[in-house]
Amino acid sequence: MGIEVLNNCIGCSKCVGSCPFEAISMSNKKAVIDLTKCTLCGACVQVCPVKAIVISREMVKRDLSAYRDVWVFVEFADDADIKKQGEIKKVSFELLSKGRFLADKLNQKLCAVVLTDKNRDYEKILSEYGADRVYLLENDEYLPYDTDIYSASIMSLINKYKPSIFLFGATYKGRDLAPRMAANLYVGLTADCTDLNINNDGLLVQSRPAFGGNIMADILSPNSRPQMATVRPNVMKIVKVLPKAVEVIKEDIRIDKNIRRVKVVQRHKEEEKGYTKIENADIIVSGGRGLKSKEKFEILNELAKLLNASVGASRAAVDSGFIDKKHQVGQSGTTVRPRLYLAFGISGAVQHLVGMKNSDVIVAINKDPNAMIFSVSKYAIIGDAHDIAKKLIEKIKSAKAVA
Ligand SMILES: Cc1cc2nc3c(=O)[nH]c(=O)nc-3n(C[C@H](O)[C@H](O)[C@H](O)COP(=O)(O)OP(=O)(O)OC[C@H]3O[C@@H](n4cnc5c(N)ncnc54)[C@H](O)[C@@H]3O)c2cc1C
Repeated sequence: MGIEVLNNCIGCSKCVGSCPFEAISMSNKKAVIDLTKCTLCGACVQVCPVKAIVISREMVKRDLSAYRDVWVFVEFADDADIKKQGEIKKVSFELLSKGRFLADKLNQKLCAVVLTDKNRDYEKILSEYGADRVYLLENDEYLPYDTDIYSASIMSLINKYKPSIFLFGATYKGRDLAPRMAANLYVGLTADCTDLNINNDGLLVQSRPAFGGNIMADILSPNSRPQMATVRPNVMKIVKVLPKAVEVIKEDIRIDKNIRRVKVVQRHKEEEKGYTKIENADIIVSGGRGLKSKEKFEILNELAKLLNASVGASRAAVDSGFIDKKHQVGQSGTTVRPRLYLAFGISGAVQHLVGMKNSDVIVAINKDPNAMIFSVSKYAIIGDAHDIAKKLIEKIKSAKAVA
Protein backbone atom coordinates (compact mmCIF):
# COMPACT_ATOMS: atom_id res chain seq x y z
CA MET A 1 0.00 0.00 0.00
CA GLY A 2 1.24 3.50 -0.70
CA ILE A 3 0.15 7.11 -1.10
CA GLU A 4 1.17 9.52 -3.83
CA VAL A 5 0.55 13.15 -4.78
CA LEU A 6 0.05 13.47 -8.55
CA ASN A 7 1.26 16.35 -10.73
CA ASN A 8 -2.25 17.78 -11.08
CA CYS A 9 -2.11 19.05 -7.46
CA ILE A 10 -3.30 22.70 -7.57
CA GLY A 11 -1.84 23.64 -4.19
CA CYS A 12 -5.22 24.49 -2.61
CA SER A 13 -3.96 23.05 0.74
CA LYS A 14 -7.35 21.58 1.66
CA CYS A 15 -5.62 18.29 2.39
CA VAL A 16 -3.34 19.89 5.00
CA GLY A 17 -6.22 20.67 7.35
CA SER A 18 -7.99 17.40 6.68
CA CYS A 19 -5.13 15.19 7.90
CA PRO A 20 -5.73 14.04 11.50
CA PHE A 21 -2.03 13.17 11.83
CA GLU A 22 -0.44 16.41 10.56
CA ALA A 23 1.30 14.39 7.88
CA ILE A 24 0.77 16.88 5.02
CA SER A 25 2.54 20.16 4.38
CA MET A 26 2.89 22.44 1.37
CA SER A 27 6.11 22.90 -0.57
CA ASN A 28 6.36 24.96 -3.77
CA LYS A 29 2.55 25.07 -3.88
CA LYS A 30 2.32 21.29 -3.90
CA ALA A 31 1.18 18.92 -1.16
CA VAL A 32 3.92 16.80 0.41
CA ILE A 33 3.10 13.76 2.52
CA ASP A 34 5.26 12.68 5.43
CA LEU A 35 5.11 8.90 5.11
CA THR A 36 6.33 8.40 8.68
CA LYS A 37 3.16 10.06 9.96
CA CYS A 38 0.63 9.05 7.29
CA THR A 39 -1.70 6.19 8.31
CA LEU A 40 -3.39 5.93 4.88
CA CYS A 41 -6.70 6.89 6.48
CA GLY A 42 -7.82 8.51 3.23
CA ALA A 43 -9.18 11.76 4.73
CA CYS A 44 -7.05 13.82 2.32
CA VAL A 45 -8.20 11.78 -0.68
CA GLN A 46 -11.79 12.69 0.16
CA VAL A 47 -11.21 16.46 0.31
CA CYS A 48 -8.92 16.86 -2.70
CA PRO A 49 -11.00 18.68 -5.36
CA VAL A 50 -8.85 17.47 -8.28
CA LYS A 51 -8.24 13.87 -7.15
CA ALA A 52 -4.50 14.51 -6.99
CA ILE A 53 -3.90 12.22 -4.01
CA VAL A 54 -4.11 8.49 -4.62
CA ILE A 55 -3.68 5.51 -2.36
CA SER A 56 -2.57 2.38 -4.16
CA ARG A 57 -3.23 -1.03 -2.73
CA GLU A 58 -2.00 -4.38 -3.85
CA MET A 59 -2.49 -7.80 -2.30
CA VAL A 60 0.76 -9.00 -0.84
CA LYS A 61 1.31 -11.67 1.78
CA ARG A 62 1.79 -9.66 4.93
CA ASP A 63 3.15 -10.44 8.36
CA LEU A 64 0.03 -10.23 10.50
CA SER A 65 1.61 -11.27 13.78
CA ALA A 66 1.40 -7.75 15.22
CA TYR A 67 -2.40 -7.85 15.09
CA ARG A 68 -3.95 -8.92 18.39
CA ASP A 69 -7.15 -8.60 20.42
CA VAL A 70 -10.86 -8.52 19.76
CA TRP A 71 -12.44 -5.08 19.41
CA VAL A 72 -16.10 -4.12 19.69
CA PHE A 73 -17.52 -0.81 18.49
CA VAL A 74 -19.73 0.51 21.30
CA GLU A 75 -22.89 2.14 20.08
CA PHE A 76 -25.08 4.62 21.89
CA ALA A 77 -28.83 5.19 21.77
CA ASP A 78 -30.18 7.50 19.11
CA ASP A 79 -29.00 11.03 19.83
CA ALA A 80 -32.45 12.41 19.09
CA ASP A 81 -33.89 10.88 22.26
CA ILE A 82 -32.65 13.17 25.02
CA LYS A 83 -33.64 10.74 27.79
CA LYS A 84 -31.64 7.95 26.22
CA GLN A 85 -28.66 10.03 25.11
CA GLY A 86 -25.45 8.32 26.04
CA GLU A 87 -27.13 5.01 26.88
CA ILE A 88 -25.18 2.04 25.53
CA LYS A 89 -27.22 -0.01 23.06
CA LYS A 90 -28.02 -3.61 23.90
CA VAL A 91 -26.34 -4.83 20.72
CA SER A 92 -22.98 -3.68 22.12
CA PHE A 93 -23.45 -5.94 25.15
CA GLU A 94 -24.35 -8.81 22.82
CA LEU A 95 -21.17 -8.23 20.81
CA LEU A 96 -19.03 -7.93 23.93
CA SER A 97 -20.45 -11.22 25.23
CA LYS A 98 -19.52 -12.98 21.99
CA GLY A 99 -16.25 -11.06 21.87
CA ARG A 100 -15.37 -12.38 25.35
CA PHE A 101 -15.82 -15.93 24.06
CA LEU A 102 -13.59 -15.22 21.03
CA ALA A 103 -10.92 -13.43 23.08
CA ASP A 104 -10.77 -16.32 25.57
CA LYS A 105 -10.33 -18.79 22.72
CA LEU A 106 -7.45 -16.70 21.35
CA ASN A 107 -6.08 -15.90 24.81
CA GLN A 108 -6.18 -12.23 23.87
CA LYS A 109 -7.85 -9.08 25.21
CA LEU A 110 -11.41 -7.93 24.65
CA CYS A 111 -11.43 -4.19 23.94
CA ALA A 112 -14.36 -1.78 23.70
CA VAL A 113 -14.04 1.21 21.39
CA VAL A 114 -15.95 4.22 22.74
CA LEU A 115 -16.36 7.45 20.80
CA THR A 116 -18.35 9.88 22.90
CA ASP A 117 -18.88 13.55 23.67
CA LYS A 118 -18.55 12.72 27.40
CA ASN A 119 -17.49 9.64 29.32
CA ARG A 120 -20.25 8.55 31.67
CA ASP A 121 -18.24 5.90 33.55
CA TYR A 122 -18.67 3.62 30.56
CA GLU A 123 -15.74 1.44 31.59
CA LYS A 124 -17.69 0.25 34.66
CA ILE A 125 -20.65 -0.92 32.59
CA LEU A 126 -18.48 -2.40 29.86
CA SER A 127 -16.52 -4.46 32.38
CA GLU A 128 -19.76 -6.23 33.34
CA TYR A 129 -19.87 -7.64 29.83
CA GLY A 130 -16.28 -8.82 29.76
CA ALA A 131 -14.22 -5.87 28.46
CA ASP A 132 -10.55 -5.93 29.53
CA ARG A 133 -9.71 -2.59 27.96
CA VAL A 134 -11.57 0.50 26.78
CA TYR A 135 -10.23 2.79 24.07
CA LEU A 136 -11.84 6.09 25.00
CA LEU A 137 -12.11 8.88 22.46
CA GLU A 138 -13.82 11.93 23.93
CA ASN A 139 -14.72 14.91 21.76
CA ASP A 140 -17.81 17.09 21.19
CA GLU A 141 -17.47 16.32 17.49
CA TYR A 142 -18.63 12.72 18.11
CA LEU A 143 -22.19 14.00 18.55
CA PRO A 144 -24.08 13.70 16.30
CA TYR A 145 -22.65 10.61 14.61
CA ASP A 146 -20.77 11.34 11.40
CA THR A 147 -19.30 8.73 9.09
CA ASP A 148 -16.23 10.73 8.10
CA ILE A 149 -15.32 11.83 11.61
CA TYR A 150 -15.85 8.38 13.10
CA SER A 151 -14.00 6.54 10.37
CA ALA A 152 -10.98 8.90 10.42
CA SER A 153 -10.74 8.54 14.22
CA ILE A 154 -11.12 4.77 14.28
CA MET A 155 -8.65 4.39 11.40
CA SER A 156 -5.98 6.07 13.47
CA LEU A 157 -6.77 3.77 16.42
CA ILE A 158 -6.57 0.69 14.24
CA ASN A 159 -3.28 1.76 12.69
CA LYS A 160 -1.79 2.42 16.12
CA TYR A 161 -3.07 -0.59 18.08
CA LYS A 162 -3.67 -3.19 15.34
CA PRO A 163 -6.69 -5.28 16.36
CA SER A 164 -7.07 -8.80 15.03
CA ILE A 165 -10.88 -8.80 15.05
CA PHE A 166 -13.31 -5.87 14.93
CA LEU A 167 -17.06 -6.35 15.49
CA PHE A 168 -19.87 -3.89 14.74
CA GLY A 169 -23.64 -4.09 15.25
CA ALA A 170 -25.60 -4.48 12.01
CA THR A 171 -27.45 -1.28 12.91
CA TYR A 172 -27.82 1.95 10.96
CA LYS A 173 -24.51 3.23 12.34
CA GLY A 174 -22.66 -0.09 12.18
CA ARG A 175 -23.82 -0.75 8.64
CA ASP A 176 -22.65 2.71 7.66
CA LEU A 177 -19.32 2.69 9.46
CA ALA A 178 -18.02 -0.87 9.07
CA PRO A 179 -18.00 -0.91 5.23
CA ARG A 180 -16.31 2.51 5.19
CA MET A 181 -13.58 1.21 7.49
CA ALA A 182 -13.21 -2.00 5.51
CA ALA A 183 -12.87 -0.07 2.24
CA ASN A 184 -10.30 2.32 3.74
CA LEU A 185 -8.28 -0.58 5.13
CA TYR A 186 -8.80 -2.73 2.06
CA VAL A 187 -9.94 -5.67 4.18
CA GLY A 188 -12.94 -7.98 4.00
CA LEU A 189 -16.17 -7.48 5.91
CA THR A 190 -18.82 -10.13 6.56
CA ALA A 191 -22.23 -8.57 7.11
CA ASP A 192 -25.08 -9.93 9.24
CA CYS A 193 -23.21 -12.85 10.79
CA THR A 194 -25.38 -15.28 12.70
CA ASP A 195 -22.47 -16.94 14.48
CA LEU A 196 -18.79 -16.30 15.15
CA ASN A 197 -16.10 -18.72 16.24
CA ILE A 198 -12.34 -19.31 16.12
CA ASN A 199 -10.93 -22.18 14.04
CA ASN A 200 -7.83 -24.27 14.72
CA ASP A 201 -5.64 -21.74 12.86
CA GLY A 202 -6.85 -18.94 15.13
CA LEU A 203 -8.93 -17.34 12.36
CA LEU A 204 -12.36 -15.82 12.87
CA VAL A 205 -15.05 -18.06 11.38
CA GLN A 206 -17.83 -15.73 10.24
CA SER A 207 -21.04 -17.69 9.61
CA ARG A 208 -23.98 -16.22 7.75
CA PRO A 209 -26.80 -17.36 5.48
CA ALA A 210 -25.99 -17.33 1.77
CA PHE A 211 -27.89 -17.97 -1.48
CA GLY A 212 -31.18 -16.63 -0.16
CA GLY A 213 -30.69 -18.30 3.21
CA ASN A 214 -30.63 -21.81 1.80
CA ILE A 215 -27.08 -22.56 2.92
CA MET A 216 -24.88 -21.35 5.75
CA ALA A 217 -21.49 -20.04 4.64
CA ASP A 218 -18.39 -19.94 6.87
CA ILE A 219 -16.23 -17.03 5.75
CA LEU A 220 -12.54 -16.52 6.64
CA SER A 221 -10.22 -13.55 6.10
CA PRO A 222 -6.79 -15.18 6.25
CA ASN A 223 -4.79 -12.45 4.47
CA SER A 224 -5.96 -9.21 6.02
CA ARG A 225 -6.45 -7.59 9.41
CA PRO A 226 -8.58 -6.73 11.20
CA GLN A 227 -11.10 -9.45 10.44
CA MET A 228 -14.31 -7.45 10.37
CA ALA A 229 -17.90 -8.54 10.87
CA THR A 230 -21.30 -7.06 11.62
CA VAL A 231 -23.91 -8.88 13.69
CA ARG A 232 -27.58 -7.98 13.94
CA PRO A 233 -29.17 -7.03 17.26
CA ASN A 234 -30.75 -9.98 19.10
CA VAL A 235 -28.53 -12.62 17.47
CA MET A 236 -25.90 -13.08 20.19
CA LYS A 237 -26.79 -13.97 23.75
CA ILE A 238 -25.84 -11.52 26.49
CA VAL A 239 -23.57 -13.02 29.15
CA LYS A 240 -22.72 -10.91 32.19
CA VAL A 241 -19.46 -11.49 34.02
CA LEU A 242 -18.11 -10.41 37.39
CA PRO A 243 -16.94 -6.82 36.91
CA LYS A 244 -13.20 -6.24 37.22
CA ALA A 245 -10.74 -3.39 36.78
CA VAL A 246 -10.64 -2.24 33.18
CA GLU A 247 -7.68 -0.58 31.53
CA VAL A 248 -8.75 2.73 29.97
CA ILE A 249 -6.66 4.12 27.13
CA LYS A 250 -7.60 7.71 26.36
CA GLU A 251 -6.68 8.79 22.87
CA ASP A 252 -6.71 12.44 21.96
CA ILE A 253 -7.24 12.36 18.23
CA ARG A 254 -7.14 15.59 16.29
CA ILE A 255 -10.37 16.07 14.38
CA ASP A 256 -10.78 18.32 11.40
CA LYS A 257 -14.40 19.48 11.44
CA ASN A 258 -14.19 20.19 7.71
CA ILE A 259 -14.24 16.52 6.80
CA ARG A 260 -17.84 16.39 8.10
CA ARG A 261 -19.80 16.34 4.84
CA VAL A 262 -23.24 15.94 6.37
CA LYS A 263 -24.93 18.57 8.49
CA VAL A 264 -27.87 17.45 10.63
CA VAL A 265 -30.41 20.21 10.19
CA GLN A 266 -33.42 18.65 11.88
CA ARG A 267 -34.36 15.30 13.39
CA HIS A 268 -37.69 13.54 13.09
CA LYS A 269 -38.47 10.67 15.37
CA GLU A 270 -41.00 8.21 14.08
CA GLU A 271 -44.00 8.17 16.36
CA GLU A 272 -44.37 4.90 18.22
CA LYS A 273 -48.03 4.03 18.00
CA GLY A 274 -48.51 2.48 21.41
CA TYR A 275 -46.53 -0.71 20.76
CA THR A 276 -42.97 -1.75 21.37
CA LYS A 277 -40.83 -2.29 18.27
CA ILE A 278 -40.50 -6.01 17.57
CA GLU A 279 -36.73 -5.97 18.14
CA ASN A 280 -37.32 -4.88 21.77
CA ALA A 281 -40.53 -6.85 22.48
CA ASP A 282 -40.84 -9.42 25.26
CA ILE A 283 -43.81 -11.12 23.61
CA ILE A 284 -44.53 -11.28 19.87
CA VAL A 285 -47.73 -12.45 18.24
CA SER A 286 -46.75 -13.17 14.66
CA GLY A 287 -48.82 -14.11 11.63
CA GLY A 288 -48.23 -15.55 8.19
CA ARG A 289 -50.03 -16.19 4.92
CA GLY A 290 -52.13 -18.79 6.75
CA LEU A 291 -54.18 -15.91 8.19
CA LYS A 292 -55.59 -15.53 4.62
CA SER A 293 -56.50 -11.80 4.55
CA LYS A 294 -55.77 -8.39 6.05
CA GLU A 295 -59.14 -8.46 7.80
CA LYS A 296 -58.48 -11.86 9.35
CA PHE A 297 -54.95 -10.81 10.34
CA GLU A 298 -56.57 -8.08 12.52
CA ILE A 299 -57.37 -10.69 15.17
CA LEU A 300 -53.65 -10.85 16.01
CA ASN A 301 -53.70 -7.15 16.94
CA GLU A 302 -56.47 -7.88 19.43
CA LEU A 303 -54.58 -10.83 20.91
CA ALA A 304 -51.35 -8.80 21.06
CA LYS A 305 -53.09 -6.00 22.94
CA LEU A 306 -54.39 -8.44 25.56
CA LEU A 307 -50.92 -9.94 26.01
CA ASN A 308 -49.17 -6.56 25.95
CA ALA A 309 -47.25 -7.94 22.97
CA SER A 310 -46.00 -6.62 19.64
CA VAL A 311 -47.20 -7.94 16.30
CA GLY A 312 -44.77 -9.68 13.95
CA ALA A 313 -45.27 -11.17 10.51
CA SER A 314 -43.74 -13.40 7.88
CA ARG A 315 -42.58 -11.88 4.61
CA ALA A 316 -45.49 -13.52 2.80
CA ALA A 317 -47.92 -11.73 5.16
CA VAL A 318 -46.15 -8.43 4.52
CA ASP A 319 -46.05 -8.99 0.75
CA SER A 320 -49.77 -9.84 0.82
CA GLY A 321 -50.42 -6.45 2.42
CA PHE A 322 -51.67 -7.83 5.76
CA ILE A 323 -49.29 -5.58 7.72
CA ASP A 324 -46.46 -3.08 7.30
CA LYS A 325 -42.90 -4.18 6.48
CA LYS A 326 -41.50 -2.91 9.80
CA HIS A 327 -43.24 -5.89 11.46
CA GLN A 328 -41.44 -8.45 9.30
CA VAL A 329 -39.39 -11.04 11.16
CA GLY A 330 -36.55 -12.84 9.42
CA GLN A 331 -33.57 -12.61 7.15
CA SER A 332 -34.76 -9.57 5.21
CA GLY A 333 -36.72 -8.22 8.16
CA THR A 334 -35.80 -7.97 11.82
CA THR A 335 -34.12 -10.53 14.08
CA VAL A 336 -36.04 -10.95 17.34
CA ARG A 337 -35.38 -12.71 20.64
CA PRO A 338 -38.54 -12.36 22.77
CA ARG A 339 -39.42 -14.46 25.81
CA LEU A 340 -42.50 -15.73 23.96
CA TYR A 341 -43.07 -15.99 20.18
CA LEU A 342 -46.49 -17.06 18.95
CA ALA A 343 -46.49 -18.03 15.26
CA PHE A 344 -49.93 -18.24 13.60
CA GLY A 345 -50.13 -19.71 10.09
CA ILE A 346 -46.39 -19.43 9.41
CA SER A 347 -44.76 -22.34 7.55
CA GLY A 348 -41.27 -21.90 9.05
CA ALA A 349 -39.16 -21.18 5.96
CA VAL A 350 -35.47 -20.96 6.81
CA GLN A 351 -35.48 -17.21 6.13
CA HIS A 352 -38.15 -16.78 8.80
CA LEU A 353 -36.57 -19.18 11.30
CA VAL A 354 -33.23 -17.37 11.16
CA GLY A 355 -34.94 -14.29 12.58
CA MET A 356 -36.84 -15.86 15.49
CA LYS A 357 -35.41 -19.26 16.40
CA ASN A 358 -33.51 -17.80 19.38
CA SER A 359 -36.77 -16.80 21.12
CA ASP A 360 -37.03 -18.34 24.61
CA VAL A 361 -40.36 -20.12 24.03
CA ILE A 362 -41.96 -20.63 20.61
CA VAL A 363 -45.57 -21.66 20.22
CA ALA A 364 -46.64 -22.47 16.67
CA ILE A 365 -50.16 -22.82 15.34
CA ASN A 366 -50.51 -24.45 11.93
CA LYS A 367 -53.03 -26.71 10.24
CA ASP A 368 -50.23 -28.77 8.67
CA PRO A 369 -48.70 -31.19 11.22
CA ASN A 370 -45.53 -31.38 9.09
CA ALA A 371 -44.93 -27.62 8.98
CA MET A 372 -41.25 -26.71 9.45
CA ILE A 373 -42.10 -24.17 12.13
CA PHE A 374 -42.74 -27.08 14.52
CA SER A 375 -39.05 -28.03 14.32
CA VAL A 376 -38.15 -24.99 16.44
CA SER A 377 -41.32 -24.82 18.57
CA LYS A 378 -41.65 -25.81 22.17
CA TYR A 379 -45.45 -26.15 21.82
CA ALA A 380 -47.26 -27.18 18.63
CA ILE A 381 -50.95 -26.52 18.12
CA ILE A 382 -52.41 -28.15 15.04
CA GLY A 383 -55.51 -26.37 13.86
CA ASP A 384 -56.97 -23.30 12.22
CA ALA A 385 -54.96 -20.15 13.08
CA HIS A 386 -58.00 -17.88 13.21
CA ASP A 387 -60.02 -20.26 15.43
CA ILE A 388 -57.16 -20.77 17.88
CA ALA A 389 -56.49 -17.01 18.11
CA LYS A 390 -60.20 -16.48 18.84
CA LYS A 391 -60.20 -19.15 21.57
CA LEU A 392 -57.05 -17.71 23.15
CA ILE A 393 -58.65 -14.24 23.23
CA GLU A 394 -61.76 -15.63 24.94
CA LYS A 395 -59.67 -17.53 27.51
CA ILE A 396 -57.48 -14.54 28.32
CA LYS A 397 -60.50 -12.24 28.59
CA SER A 398 -62.29 -14.60 30.97
CA ALA A 399 -59.11 -15.13 33.02
CA LYS A 400 -58.72 -11.34 33.29
CA ALA A 401 -62.36 -10.95 34.28
CA VAL A 402 -61.92 -13.45 37.16
CA ALA A 403 -58.70 -11.74 38.31
C1 LIG B 1 -33.69 -13.75 0.10
C2 LIG B 1 -34.96 -14.09 0.82
C3 LIG B 1 -35.24 -13.43 2.01
C4 LIG B 1 -36.39 -13.73 2.71
N1 LIG B 1 -36.64 -13.08 3.89
C5 LIG B 1 -37.70 -13.44 4.64
C6 LIG B 1 -37.93 -12.85 5.91
O1 LIG B 1 -37.20 -11.98 6.36
N2 LIG B 1 -38.99 -13.26 6.62
C7 LIG B 1 -39.85 -14.25 6.17
O2 LIG B 1 -40.82 -14.58 6.87
N3 LIG B 1 -39.67 -14.80 4.95
C8 LIG B 1 -38.63 -14.41 4.18
N4 LIG B 1 -38.47 -14.95 2.94
C9 LIG B 1 -39.59 -15.76 2.35
C10 LIG B 1 -39.64 -17.17 2.87
O3 LIG B 1 -38.85 -17.98 2.03
C11 LIG B 1 -41.11 -17.69 2.85
O4 LIG B 1 -41.62 -17.54 1.55
C12 LIG B 1 -42.04 -16.98 3.81
O5 LIG B 1 -41.47 -16.96 5.10
C13 LIG B 1 -43.37 -17.74 3.86
O6 LIG B 1 -44.26 -17.06 4.68
P1 LIG B 1 -45.48 -17.86 5.35
O7 LIG B 1 -44.93 -18.95 6.19
O8 LIG B 1 -46.34 -16.84 5.99
O9 LIG B 1 -46.27 -18.40 4.08
P2 LIG B 1 -46.42 -19.86 3.51
O10 LIG B 1 -45.10 -20.45 3.22
O11 LIG B 1 -47.39 -19.75 2.41
O12 LIG B 1 -47.03 -20.69 4.70
C14 LIG B 1 -48.32 -20.51 5.20
C15 LIG B 1 -48.49 -21.51 6.30
O13 LIG B 1 -49.78 -21.35 6.86
C16 LIG B 1 -50.36 -22.62 7.06
N5 LIG B 1 -51.81 -22.42 7.00
C17 LIG B 1 -52.58 -22.21 5.91
N6 LIG B 1 -53.85 -22.01 6.27
C18 LIG B 1 -53.89 -22.12 7.61
C19 LIG B 1 -54.90 -22.02 8.58
N7 LIG B 1 -56.17 -21.76 8.22
N8 LIG B 1 -54.58 -22.19 9.88
C20 LIG B 1 -53.31 -22.49 10.27
N9 LIG B 1 -52.31 -22.59 9.39
C21 LIG B 1 -52.58 -22.39 8.09
C22 LIG B 1 -49.83 -23.50 5.99
O14 LIG B 1 -49.87 -24.86 6.39
C23 LIG B 1 -48.42 -22.98 5.84
O15 LIG B 1 -47.55 -23.68 6.70
C24 LIG B 1 -37.31 -14.68 2.21
C25 LIG B 1 -37.02 -15.35 1.01
C26 LIG B 1 -35.87 -15.04 0.34
C27 LIG B 1 -35.57 -15.78 -0.93
